[in-house]
Amino acid sequence: MALEQKNTEIAKCHVENISKPTVFPFPYTPYPPQQQLMECLYRTLTDGGVAILSSPTGTGKSLSIICSSLHWLLSQSSPAHTNKTGKAKESHTHSPNHKKISPKKKPARLDDDLLDQQKKKEKFSYLSTFCYFSIKDCRQYLQKKLEILEQYEQLERNAANKKRRYNHTFGYSLLFSWFNGEGLPAGGTNQTDTKNRSVNEWMVCSSVIYLFIYFFATNQKTFELEARSQKKKKKTPQIIYCSRTHSQLQQFIKEIRKTKFKDDQLEIVHLGSRKQLCVNDDINQKQVGVEHINEKCLEMQQSASVPGEVKIHAKNKKAATAKGGESTKISAAGQKNEAVQAKKRSRAQMENEAKHGANEAKKKGKKQSKCPYLNDRIEQFSLMSTLEMHDIEQCFELGKKMNACAYYGIRKNVATAHLIVAPYNLLIQESARESLGIQLKDNVVIIDEAHNLIETINATHTFCVTLQTLQLAHDLVKQYFSKYENRFKFGNAARLKQLLKVLEAFLHYLGESGVQDKSTAFNGGSFTAVVVNGDDMLFDMKIDHMNFYELTDFVEQHNLVKKLHGFAISNVIDNAASLSRTKSPLASLTNLLKSLMNKEENGAVIVTKYSAIEKRPQNELKYILLNPDVHFKRIVDECRSVVLAGGTMQPTSHFVQQLFHHIPAEKVHVLSCDHVVPQDHVLAVTLKSGPSNVKFDFTFKNRCDTKMLNELGRSIINIAKVVMGGMVLFFNSFDYMDLVLKHWKQHLANLPVKKKKNCSLRHFIIVYEPFHNMFFQQTVFVESHSSADVEPLLLQYKECIYPLVENKDDHETSKTSHGAILICVVGGKMSEGINFQDDLCRCVIMCGLPYANKNDIELKQRMEYLNKKLGNDAGNKYYQNLCMRAVNQSIGRAIRHKDDFGAIVLIDQRYSERDNIINDIPLWIQRSLYHATSFGDCFHKITKFVKHCKSLYCKEKEK
Ligand code: SF4
Repeated sequence: MALEQKNTEIAKCHVENISKPTVFPFPYTPYPPQQQLMECLYRTLTDGGVAILSSPTGTGKSLSIICSSLHWLLSQSSPAHTNKTGKAKESHTHSPNHKKISPKKKPARLDDDLLDQQKKKEKFSYLSTFCYFSIKDCRQYLQKKLEILEQYEQLERNAANKKRRYNHTFGYSLLFSWFNGEGLPAGGTNQTDTKNRSVNEWMVCSSVIYLFIYFFATNQKTFELEARSQKKKKKTPQIIYCSRTHSQLQQFIKEIRKTKFKDDQLEIVHLGSRKQLCVNDDINQKQVGVEHINEKCLEMQQSASVPGEVKIHAKNKKAATAKGGESTKISAAGQKNEAVQAKKRSRAQMENEAKHGANEAKKKGKKQSKCPYLNDRIEQFSLMSTLEMHDIEQCFELGKKMNACAYYGIRKNVATAHLIVAPYNLLIQESARESLGIQLKDNVVIIDEAHNLIETINATHTFCVTLQTLQLAHDLVKQYFSKYENRFKFGNAARLKQLLKVLEAFLHYLGESGVQDKSTAFNGGSFTAVVVNGDDMLFDMKIDHMNFYELTDFVEQHNLVKKLHGFAISNVIDNAASLSRTKSPLASLTNLLKSLMNKEENGAVIVTKYSAIEKRPQNELKYILLNPDVHFKRIVDECRSVVLAGGTMQPTSHFVQQLFHHIPAEKVHVLSCDHVVPQDHVLAVTLKSGPSNVKFDFTFKNRCDTKMLNELGRSIINIAKVVMGGMVLFFNSFDYMDLVLKHWKQHLANLPVKKKKNCSLRHFIIVYEPFHNMFFQQTVFVESHSSADVEPLLLQYKECIYPLVENKDDHETSKTSHGAILICVVGGKMSEGINFQDDLCRCVIMCGLPYANKNDIELKQRMEYLNKKLGNDAGNKYYQNLCMRAVNQSIGRAIRHKDDFGAIVLIDQRYSERDNIINDIPLWIQRSLYHATSFGDCFHKITKFVKHCKSLYCKEKEK
């Protein structure tokens, strides 16, 4: 397809009939792609339906999403909005009908949800809340409170009951005056500046504050709001914004702060993991992983039902459940009493209590009955965390300050929040959604960085058990059953026996050597993998007659996973105690059994068996989900709108076919935005041969050719000579990267590999000293297999590049340092989500094409499934998409904002020979693409571009 023709499609969206919102509250004049994105999104949210929005990184995608979606959200509670069709009307302020609006309608930004929140918040102790904060904090708090209540009063005045006296704000006005240093009203004698007030004075005054607040908040406001809550309300939709990583979510919150919405009374909840939010230092330690923290936290909460107290017998069951419930939930009555008690305590007392509780538990050397941070202060925490926008770090700090669990505190706001910000795995899993209380009905879901959404859904619902874990589960259930056999009810004992039978059947099936159907098996050398029919497999195991629904229900209802875990710990059962409950073998088996009950065509069962006896424990049985629609359909059906956004969403047909095929075409909005970066800031070159004219062919059979690897090394050395700043080099896989580096070390630099002197980091930052010779002054960094090493590696890489920029005014005068080279892997940690902006990456080099192994049994299944379901060679298209999406993600590292510039070098003859490859590269890169005829041609082009960039750089500096 000609480039010109494609350019006309670049901003393709069903936007013909958009009744444009006059102006979006964007912080500056938006670029055309930003305006298009906002309009398309607004239209989708207004009309309902689905949108797939593709906008390159650095084009202000997040900001556009915020301005459009929150603008729409606020319009939902505006007076002119609520017609029966649910359509938003625009420009209310200037509407000629403005005066005719019913006085019963609410002013903007003060919808019923907000009033609900107020009602909830008024119930808690204000005094104890204030005790945690400085006078400045309290003043800000009261100022906000006053603003809200003034709006509330205005609303009530407009309402039918005009005779009532309205003085909610009276008490707050007095307090606010006092905080502003205007003296205590009604006999107050203190006229000094608030800054100079002593602590004692503050404590005395706090009693006065308490009386005021108690009187005005409890006696008047509460019942006013109570009465109001009886009225039928229209629920304003929630926006659930999801992205892949927490750093991306953090960035999203930062972007909101740049907009006017930071000042709106929007309740924003940022959900995170215990690793980020757990305030218990005994549990959340630096070196400890998230699974360990989850495990410890759950253990503390469930300690009432730890081993020794595990009873399935009916007599004790009720008591045990009540006990367990006690530790996980704070009962409503308990909350009320504790809140009243809290009013009477000082901050110091509370802190002491929390610490004392933890210390006592430590002294006793016992498992704590409950985490000391899981207390009544959680309510106050949830109140304070919504008064203004808090990101996850601020929530953690607030939790620390208040000695309240931030993890559970945040969850309390999910139901009332206007905007929920969460990683998208929490949305995809139904169980996670339910445990968090995330509602889908009529709400809006926006999934950012959605390019890997389908793969994530499939991976989340793929379950695997190995022979080893099955053996552990079997041993555990058997011992548990033997120990308590006489105490089980007949029905429970029968279910446990059934479970044992299932485990034995699986063990026998996986323990047998070899696979039955060798004709369809994939031979991977040391192992053989085969796809089996789920029903046939159960028939072979002789358990096909069993009702797995009932069995899995039994496991879940009796919390068997948790109980067995506790049993293993208390009875010191070999190996079993080391198993995490979150990765329990029994939980894996239950998930697998549930998956086997899915329709057969939606997934596949793969059995892998190893030939060597010592490897036999690794024999595995895996269920892979092939149809992501099974789990995503509920989100699409229940939500008002679902929006997928990302930098590289092409080909969008992939999403439409797999996730939205049941939605009418007119309800699916597709938009592909252009980049905001000028065309002369980007150079993309394809390179098909090296300096000695050896062809670059990275296909599997040729990729180890030594001549080609030498030629590759020489090409990169030459390009590195002219590139200023950082250069990022991508290989297809870790294995291939290691092979190439090993080859270069032997053939291009005859020196041994050494660690850099004084390098405080671990061995993964292999600074290839031989490559100092190869690459002149550049230091070479290599990506590590371990994700924990990413941060320190990036830090070192940055340090190598930025002294160059900060210390030298002109790159040409730089003799001591010439930047750095980062060698990494497509699909690794460096290829996604890392911002290599400006000098961190002035050139990105892609070596080869990262096609997956077509013989891989899982990939084969997916391709076959797509061919069957969608036809038209859909499997091969999927295979091609996987590769090109990975390429696009990697090369997208070079340009990160509108003033950025950089070169992209695509090394492989296939880039210049195959149109289908180039067609899948984003259009903004295609426009700057040049097919070099030789290495000299490519080198000349890059040199010229670098000169041009230097002039751009100088201009930028002058600005
Ligand atoms: S309850 Fe909260 S603070 Fe306590 S261990 Fe669990 S996550 Fe951490």
